[in-house]
Amino acid sequence: MQTTSRYRATARMVAAVGVVSLVAACSGNGGANGGGDAAGYPDQNITIVVPFSAGGPTDTVTRMIAEPMAAKLGGKVVVQNVEGAGGTVGAGDVARADPDGYTVLMHHIGMSTAPALYKSLGYEPLEDFETVGLVTEVPMTIVARKDFAPTTLQDLVTHVKANASKVTLANAGIGAASHLCGLLFQSTTGVKLQEVPYQGTGPALTDLVGGQVDFMCDQTTNTSGQIAAGKVKAYAVTTPERVKSLPDLPTTAEAGLPQLQVSVWHGLYVPADTPQEIVQKLSEALKVALADQGVIDQMAKLGTAPVPADDATPQAHRAKLEEQLGTWGKIIADSGVKVS
Ligand code: ASP
Repeated sequence: MQTTSRYRATARMVAAVGVVSLVAACSGNGGANGGGDAAGYPDQNITIVVPFSAGGPTDTVTRMIAEPMAAKLGGKVVVQNVEGAGGTVGAGDVARADPDGYTVLMHHIGMSTAPALYKSLGYEPLEDFETVGLVTEVPMTIVARKDFAPTTLQDLVTHVKANASKVTLANAGIGAASHLCGLLFQSTTGVKLQEVPYQGTGPALTDLVGGQVDFMCDQTTNTSGQIAAGKVKAYAVTTPERVKSLPDLPTTAEAGLPQLQVSVWHGLYVPADTPQEIVQKLSEALKVALADQGVIDQMAKLGTAPVPADDATPQAHRAKLEEQLGTWGKIIADSGVKVS
C-alpha cells in the first residue's frame, strides 16, 4: 500500500542533507540520490540502517543478509548503526530519508511498541514506512554475570525479590526488546529493579561479561556465543520450545515463569512513497538472502531461522506490524509505562 508521509514535506530539506552525508560517508560516491528510478535501481550503494549498536543482535542479523541481498540486487549494501532511544533515533532518520530505496531500515518488535511508549515519536510506523518483508523471529534468553549468586530462574526470582534495590537489569533503551522482556520480568515477579540502559545489547553484554551489571534479557543471536563459552550464566529461554542450539537451557515455562514469553520479530522497511517496483526488488533480494544456505546455517547456530518465504513479503510484514501495534499498544497502555 502506497502512503504519504506526514513528516516528509517539512522534514525533506533536513533529511536530504543527513542522507547525502550518510551515503557519501559510506560509499564515497558523492552522495547523489537515485531519485527513485526503479528501472536502474540500484545504481549506488544501499544503506541499511541498524538502530542499535554494532555487534548486537539486530546488527548481527543485518550483516548476515546484507551480502546475499547485495549479490541479488547487483549493488553494494552498507550497514550503518544509528543508535539511540531504544531504536527510535535510527527509525526516525529512515522515516525522513528520501523514498528512493537507498536508505533501508532493519527494525524489530520495537517498531510496534514505540508508539505506545513514547509521547512524541516523530514518526508513525504504518504511515511513514513501506514494509519490505519479515526476516526472522529470535528467542530471548535470561542471562546474568557469571558470578551472580542465583543458579536457577526460581533462585533469580527469590534473589531479586530480596535485593530489589541492589540488583541491576541492563537493556538497550526504552522500547528495545531487552527493555520489553525486562518489563515482563518485573511485572510477572512484581519487583521493580534498577534498569541500566545502553545503546544496544552489544555493549550491554560486554558489561555483563565484565561484571558491571547483574542480568538482562537478550536475543540468542547475541547471547549464544557467550553462553556456550561459559562467559555468562543462562537461566532460561523465553519461547514455548527449547532452542536447538542451546538444548540444556530450560524454557521459562519449564523453569517456573510461564507468563514470561517473548520472541523478537524483525523486518525491513523503506520510507513511505518509495516506488513499489523498488520495494519488490528489495523484497525479492530479501527472499533470496533468507534461502541462502550460509544464512540458514549461521542463524541456526545462533538459535534462530529465516521466516518462511511467504512472510518475506510487504503484505505479510504489514499484517504482522498492524497486529503487533494493536497487541503491544494495549499491553503498554495497561502497564502505564510512558516516556516523555
Ligand atoms: N536489538 C537490540 C540490539 O541490537 C537489542 C534490543 O532490542 O534489546 O542491540
